[in-house]
Amino acid sequence: MQLRSYLQIAFALLGLILALSWMPGPVSAGEPVTIRAGLPSEPEVALTFDDGPSPLYTPQILDLLDKYQAQATFFVLGCKVEKYPWLIKEMLRRGHEVGNHSFSHPHLPQTGQAARERELETTRLDLDLLGCPCQHKLVRPPYSAFDERLVSYAAHTGRQLVLGNIDSGDWRGLDARAIEQNVLTRVRNGAIIYFHDSDEKDLKDRTPTVEALKTILPVLKYRGYRLVTVDEVLTKNSH
Ligand SMILES: [Zn+2]
Repeated sequence: MQLRSYLQIAFALLGLILALSWMPGPVSAGEPVTIRAGLPSEPEVALTFDDGPSPLYTPQILDLLDKYQAQATFFVLGCKVEKYPWLIKEMLRRGHEVGNHSFSHPHLPQTGQAARERELETTRLDLDLLGCPCQHKLVRPPYSAFDERLVSYAAHTGRQLVLGNIDSGDWRGLDARAIEQNVLTRVRNGAIIYFHDSDEKDLKDRTPTVEALKTILPVLKYRGYRLVTVDEVLTKNSH
C-alpha cells in the first residue's frame, strides 16, 4: 500500500474519532425522545417561548418572569441568536433555559437530511459559544413537526424533542383575554405550555402575549404551581 493510502486511512480514522468525541452520546435507555408533558403528580408547569429572541418583547417577558420568580425555557432560532446574542446571555443570567428551535424555522420533515442537520447543528454551535448548558439536549422542532428520521437523529445525538400539551394560541393572533383563557382553563400539573416571544420574521405583535402573562403568571402562582424549566420537568420524569 502506498504512503498516500495510509495517510488517507489515518485521516479518515482521525475524522471518525473527532466526530465521535463531538457527539454528546445517545439518549440513555428509559429516557423518552419525544416529550409532551411533565408528571401529573407534580404541581409544576413549564412555560416555553418560541421563535425569539426579540429585542422588543423578550426583555418585557424576562422582567415579568423575574417579578413572579418564574423560570422558563426559550426555544430560540439560530438566525436571531446571531443577531441578538446579548438576549441569550440575559436569559441565562436570570436562570432561564435555552433550547434549539432550528436556525431558520423550516418544516423539518420536508427538509433534506443534510439541511436539517445544518439547521440544528448551526444553532447548537451558536448557543455553545454563548455557554448554554442545554443546547445539546433540548430541541423543539418548528411547528412541532417531526418524523421518524428526526426522532432517530435526536436519539443518536443525545437530544430530546420537546413538544407541549397546552397551546396558548398566541401565534394565531388572539387577544390577551383569549390567550389567558386558553391557558388558565386548561392548565394542569406537569403542563408544558407554548407561547411565542417573536415570530420567524419579527413582524408579529406579541403585545397580547406580554399582556396575558401579566394575568397568567400571578394566577398560576396563586394556584400553587411552581413555574420551572423544561429540564427540571424532564429530570423528575426520568426518576
Ligand atoms: Zn416556531
